[in-house]
Amino acid sequence: MDTDVIVIGAGLAGLQCARRLQRSGCRVTVLEAEDRVGGRVRTDVIDGFRCDRGFQVLNPAYPAVRDWISVSALKLQKFGVGALVSTDEGASLVAHPLRHPRLAPATLGSRHVQASDVLALLRWMGPVLLRESRASRAADDRTLRTSLDAAGLTGPLRRDLLDTFLAGVLADSSGGKSANYARLLMRWFALGAPGLPEEGMQALPEQMSASLADPVRLGTPVRELEDTAGRVRATTDSGALHARLAVVAVGPQHAADLTDIPAPAAHGLTTWWFRASEPPGTGRFLMLDAARAGGGPAGPVWNTAAISEVAPSYAPAGEHLVQATTLLDQPDGRAEERVIRRDLERLYRTSTRDWELITHHVVPHALPAQPPPLGDRVGQRINDRTLMAGDHREHGSIQGALVSGDRAGQAAAGLLASGGIV
Ligand SMILES: Cc1cc2nc3c(=O)[nH]c(=O)nc-3n(C[C@H](O)[C@H](O)[C@H](O)COP(=O)(O)OP(=O)(O)OC[C@H]3O[C@@H](n4cnc5c(N)ncnc54)[C@H](O)[C@@H]3O)c2cc1C
Repeated sequence: MDTDVIVIGAGLAGLQCARRLQRSGCRVTVLEAEDRVGGRVRTDVIDGFRCDRGFQVLNPAYPAVRDWISVSALKLQKFGVGALVSTDEGASLVAHPLRHPRLAPATLGSRHVQASDVLALLRWMGPVLLRESRASRAADDRTLRTSLDAAGLTGPLRRDLLDTFLAGVLADSSGGKSANYARLLMRWFALGAPGLPEEGMQALPEQMSASLADPVRLGTPVRELEDTAGRVRATTDSGALHARLAVVAVGPQHAADLTDIPAPAAHGLTTWWFRASEPPGTGRFLMLDAARAGGGPAGPVWNTAAISEVAPSYAPAGEHLVQATTLLDQPDGRAEERVIRRDLERLYRTSTRDWELITHHVVPHALPAQPPPLGDRVGQRINDRTLMAGDHREHGSIQGALVSGDRAGQAAAGLLASGGIV
C-alpha cells in the first residue's frame, strides 16, 4: 500500500482533511490537478497587483478559521463593517454601529435605515445571533426571499442594501438560497471584520499546505478512482497510487468525474480588476449600487471596492486597485469591459479613461446553489473506501469547506482506527 489515505483536491476542504488525518497519525497523500494549492482560493500577482481569482474575503469570525488557522500570520487587512450605498443622489455610509460608533449618527440618520427594518432584521437574525446551532435546523428552513418577507423586512434596508450585499456574497440574485445558510453568514459578518491577507487570499491555503509532512503533489489530476481488491486505486498521468481509503475533495463541478454523486448546481460571478489613476475615495467600505428604481443595481456591477485602500499590500506603493463584481445569473453578468467602465464611472463619479484593466476572472462555479433546506451534516462516506469533502457537502463558504474537510478526515481516521477498513 502506498499510503493510508489519498486526498484528491487541494482546495480548503482537501487540505483540512489531510491535516486532520496527519494529526491522527495516518499517512496521507494529496493529489492536486492544478499547479498551486487553494482551488477556488487563488491569487494571481500581475505587475505587483494581487488579484484574487474572484473577489472574496476571509472572515476571522468563522469558528473553523479561529480553530485551525493562524490568522495573525496572515496579517489581515480589514474592511469596514458596513457598506457605501450609492444612489443618483450620491453615496451614503451604513456602518455597523457598534464597530464604528463614530459613524453611528450618520448611519442611524440614513434614509436607508428605518427603525421598522432594523427590528425586522433583528427578528430575522434573532435566534441565530444568540446561538449558531439554531441555523442548522433544516426543518425550519425556506428560501431567503420568503424568509425575509415573512420577517417583514421589506423597506429600504432590504431593497438598497441587504439584497444586493447578500446577492454578491451568495453569487445569486434570485433570493432562492437557504435562509439558514444566509443567516449563518450574516451572523459571522456581524461578529467579525472580514479582511484580506497581506499576501493575498492564496496565503490561506499556502499556510495550510505548509503544515503537511508530505507535500501536495501538484499538477497531478486523478483520471480514475477504483475500489479494487481491498484497496482504492487512483490513476494519474504518471501512474497509479494505492491506499486503504480515498477522500474526494474536488469541488462541486468535478464531483461527478470520479464518483456516482451528481454535480450539485452552482452559481457564478465575475470580478474585474482595474489599476486606477487616483484613489477612488471610498475608504475601507464595499460600495453597493441602489440606483435602480425600486432598489438594486442599475448596471451590471453589484459590488465594488477600492481594494488598495483596504489592503495596501494588494498594489505597488502609490498605485490603486479597484475590483468590480457582476453576477452570472443576471442578463448583463457577462458585460463587456466598456460597459463595466461606464458603470464604474457612474458609481465613483469619476472618469475611468486612465484606468487600466489588469485582468478579469469569470468563475461559473463559484458557490454551490444551496437551496433550502440547509443540509445538516451530510454524510461523508459515499461507498466502502471513498469519502467526499467540499463546501457543497456543508455550505458554500470557507467555513463550510474547512468543516467538511475536517469531518471527512475524522471519519476516515475513525474508519482506519476501528479496523473497519483494512
Ligand atoms: C469568486 C468567489 C468568491 C467567494 N467568496 C467567498 C467569501 O467571501 N467568503 C467565503 O467564506 N467563501 C467564499 N467563496 C467560497 C470559498 O472559496 C469556497 O467555498 C471554498 O474555497 C471551496 O473549497 P473546496 O475545497 O470545497 O473546493 P475547491 O476550492 O473547488 O477545491 C477543489 C480542488 O480539487 C482540485 N481538483 C478537481 N478535480 C481534480 C482531480 N481530478 N484530481 C486532482 N485534483 C482535482 C481542484 O483543482 C481544486 O484545487 C468564494 C468562492 C469564489 C469562487
